[in-house]
Amino acid sequence: MVDLDDTLCNTWEAGKYTIIRLFPHLLRKRKFKALFYILTARYRELEQSRELLVLDLDKLLQRIMERVYSRVKREDLEEMLELVDRTFFSNLKLFPDAKYFLEELKKINAKLVLVTDSSTYWQRKKLEYLGIKDYFDGIIISGETGHSKLDPHNFLLARRMFPNEDEVYMVGDRDDTDMKGGKAVGAITILVKRGYFKGKRAKYADYVVKDLIEALEVIKREHEKRDKA
Ligand SMILES: [Mg+2]
Repeated sequence: MVDLDDTLCNTWEAGKYTIIRLFPHLLRKRKFKALFYILTARYRELEQSRELLVLDLDKLLQRIMERVYSRVKREDLEEMLELVDRTFFSNLKLFPDAKYFLEELKKINAKLVLVTDSSTYWQRKKLEYLGIKDYFDGIIISGETGHSKLDPHNFLLARRMFPNEDEVYMVGDRDDTDMKGGKAVGAITILVKRGYFKGKRAKYADYVVKDLIEALEVIKREHEKRDKA
């Protein structure tokens, strides 16, 4: 099982560029309260929001703007959305080790299931754009199941896709979703320290690694151990 955002691609980085690009737009539109919201990092309050992890980008942006303003004009929102979408995708890319990681796993006949938060539209667009869709034997998206990765539901779904596989790994960047969920279904959990959650303490990770090359080494090592046993 593998996570997408900040594990395989630079979502947080692309998101940061997008936020920076929003500044002049918000200034021009005299949306000072929204600027203040971003500058004081109040968006951190959204980290634990289950809703945030299943919503489409337009709904999300609307929710955030409605937190700041009681009323938001439709055309203001659409203009922002267009800017966000364009800036985000022009900055989104796979991490340099992502393709190698996926290809090497294919070579050892691993079944790959993507378990990812966010909306269907947004995540499928990312997969299309990054050109990695065909690597996966299964794709589980929170927007489609109605459950965020804060609860084990999606990991159970992934697990049930291949009930005969007794060697399971979860590779992701977030401890309280990816690692916790992986643990809940008996996976060996590998935390890749990148992106927004890089500085957080890991409670549920069996291994903490700096990139996907190291994650792959862990998997190969564990795999050999089992082969010998
Ligand atoms: Mg992630």
